[in-house]
Amino acid sequence: MSEQIPAVGIDLGTTFSAIAHLSPSGAPVTLMNSEGDRITPSVALFENGQAIVGKEALKAISTEANSIALCAKRDMGRKVFHQTIENKQYPPEVIEAFILNKLRRDAMGQIGHFTKAVVTVPAYFDEVRRKATQDAGYMAGLDVLDIINEPTAAALAFGFQHGILGQSSAQENILVYDLGGGTFDVTIMRICGNDFTTLATDGDVQLGGFDWDNRLVDYIAEKFVQQFYADPREDVCARGKLWRECEDAKRTLSVRQKAIVSCDYQGLAAKFEVTREEFESMTMDLVDRTRFTAVQTLRAAGLEWSDVSRVLLCGGSSRMPMVRDMLRQVSGKEPDASAAADEAVALGAAIHAGHLLSLSAGNAPSFKIRNVNSHSLGVIGLDPATHLQRVGVLIPRNTKLPVRYRRNFRTQKVNQKNLLVQIVEGESSSPDNCTFIGSCKIPDLPPMLPAGTPVAVTFQYSPDGRLKVSVEIPNTTAAITQEFTRENNLPKHLLDGWRQYISNEPPTDYQ
Ligand code: AMP
Repeated sequence: MSEQIPAVGIDLGTTFSAIAHLSPSGAPVTLMNSEGDRITPSVALFENGQAIVGKEALKAISTEANSIALCAKRDMGRKVFHQTIENKQYPPEVIEAFILNKLRRDAMGQIGHFTKAVVTVPAYFDEVRRKATQDAGYMAGLDVLDIINEPTAAALAFGFQHGILGQSSAQENILVYDLGGGTFDVTIMRICGNDFTTLATDGDVQLGGFDWDNRLVDYIAEKFVQQFYADPREDVCARGKLWRECEDAKRTLSVRQKAIVSCDYQGLAAKFEVTREEFESMTMDLVDRTRFTAVQTLRAAGLEWSDVSRVLLCGGSSRMPMVRDMLRQVSGKEPDASAAADEAVALGAAIHAGHLLSLSAGNAPSFKIRNVNSHSLGVIGLDPATHLQRVGVLIPRNTKLPVRYRRNFRTQKVNQKNLLVQIVEGESSSPDNCTFIGSCKIPDLPPMLPAGTPVAVTFQYSPDGRLKVSVEIPNTTAAITQEFTRENNLPKHLLDGWRQYISNEPPTDYQ
């Protein structure tokens, strides 16, 4: 039997994750986890430093909330997860690695040993979060083939499902509206034959179904307080239990006009009815935020609604009728729910993995993906007029990738020993409102350079939105080294240690 490398794609979601592979016939198929489910709650319950991931972890929220990590994806890019677990402060990517490891192990039971996989990220993820996702994959024993944007993956799955992939005549502009559990993305894509080109992308990494849940939690808790003068939100386990009830009620309200939420705390118990109308009125501002972003993104792509042939729904929260009503009203089109909301992203990632493996086997590309950067890239400099720090944008957002930008920095004095370039992503001119990616230090400039010598720094975004920095001094042969120090990044030895601990796989060479 010939050994074929499985093509695996993973959707690492804020609240649910999914893993898919390409079947021998080339069709993407979701793999079930060891509990027999096609999606796995992205929840980790820690017990003596080991993590139980998925449904069982979620169940424990009403009894062991302090040992549970929920929505770690929202903390990606930070140094540590917002909550201490078993007196430990875990980096969020380590929690994500435990989740990926569960998906990897469960999938291996069905398709055999594999390490290569494509992992998806929200299109609006910045560089720091993308790197953290890649690191999570590494710590889970994976060899991350590529990171692709969730809406791109959804569009690929859609293209496959509708037979567009492989046809050269099709052309359409689609708006992918992706509202998951914790993040929101809107992306305008042009599908032209086999070319999938992102025209513009925007979103919010702090907006998702979880925020709808929390509104309901507050609403019910307030009613409970009015009745009993006791607040279930004060206790993490009672709050966790109420959250599960509310999340369930939210799903009910997608199909029914009313739902009942039970709440008990300190031996007191009550049931509260909530209507769809009440739920929609308490969350209208959230859906309005997504409408605003969708309109802005369309504008950034230089299109009108009449240029958009399809509004593709993606992410579990797009099942809410209020989302569909809003999109119908603003676009004048019936939103397309034909993509499997919870699985499309993993299916598209598997298609992309198959494509990459086929390319590396020397085959011709069957489709092309073109991406844009979701945040402007800039460097921090001193404003000569005010002497305050400000950001100078080098690569504006929505620039087609890959892209290179070269900029000359100049030495300030004779025989300057080193130079420091601070790199940020964001749309503000104030560094405080941007994400600090890291700094590039050139520690050993050649001796006796005159003041004002140009030092050329090249910033290069690869198609996956990851940044590389290189440095040279024009007209010299001096070898220049640079240290690109990333903010909040786990060093290599820790990544290796975690990889061994989480996955039981020895470290492999990793950049
Ligand atoms: P995803 O990350 O795409 O799996 O989306 C998960 C989010 O979708 C969670 O916040 C779920 O509560 C939400 N969700 C799933 N199904 C429904 C539904 N039928 N109605 C409302 N929200 C849903």
